[in-house]
Amino acid sequence: MEAGGHACTGALAGAVSSSTVGALTGADLGVAGTAVGALLGAGAALLPDLDADGATAYRSGGRVTALVGECFQFLARTTYGKTRLPHDPRGDGEHRGLVHTPIFAASLGLLVGLGALLTPWVTGIAMIMVLAPGISALSRSGPRWVRRRLCTDQDPVALLAAGAITWSLAVAGAMAELGWFAGLSITMGMVVHSVGDSATRSGICWTFPIRRRCAKCSRKSGARCSGARWRRGHVLPKSMRWSVGSRGGKRIERTIELICLILVAVLLIPDAAELARTLG
Ligand SMILES: [Zn+2]
Ligand SMILES: [Zn+2]
Repeated sequence: MEAGGHACTGALAGAVSSSTVGALTGADLGVAGTAVGALLGAGAALLPDLDADGATAYRSGGRVTALVGECFQFLARTTYGKTRLPHDPRGDGEHRGLVHTPIFAASLGLLVGLGALLTPWVTGIAMIMVLAPGISALSRSGPRWVRRRLCTDQDPVALLAAGAITWSLAVAGAMAELGWFAGLSITMGMVVHSVGDSATRSGICWTFPIRRRCAKCSRKSGARCSGARWRRGHVLPKSMRWSVGSRGGKRIERTIELICLILVAVLLIPDAAELARTLG
């Protein structure tokens, strides 16, 4: 799946989860809560592609995010080299490897949540790094007037907007409680990304580090398999998967983007109406 599809599915997941958190805990997050939830979800759903040079998240923050991307890629290559079994595919295991696994998503979310206990700076920096690619990718998928009026599809403008949102949350004193929410949003968005990639032909490895039979040997019953740890899985039957970048694939992803954006808008309406009532 390409950046637009990831950002829009992530935004929907983020908007739904922050509305749910608001409803369950009784915390009155309001329209800002749902909107920030959607932006965080969108950005988090772009993070796994930090393992590919030039992806939206990789270049969103210039050298800083590129450096994070290089660290992730190094981690992915080393882990692959140390854990691969005889029937795992050749290659370096960098793209759609470790950084796309659920265990990595959970660990990164946990690290951000724990880091927030040390200092609110961890939350602040994580928020900016997640919000910036989310804002630029959503602006590219959304209506054209957003691009024309706000220019938030451009990386430096998106970075500024991410900084402004984070700063206003810090000024409002919300940073202290946002640590776990940010961590959870990161894990959830990254898993949504992996679901998106698993709907396409490429798939991702869901079960790392569990040792399994490889895909080839499982088709032949009774064949001895020397094991695979990086076997990729899918969420759709073979006939429904599309190939990323193909004409048909682009059409499917564009439809997914539109549906998600409309649903996010629908989720924002009641909160926005409530805000208008209190202001008016
Ligand atoms: Zn991906
Ligand atoms: Zn095998």
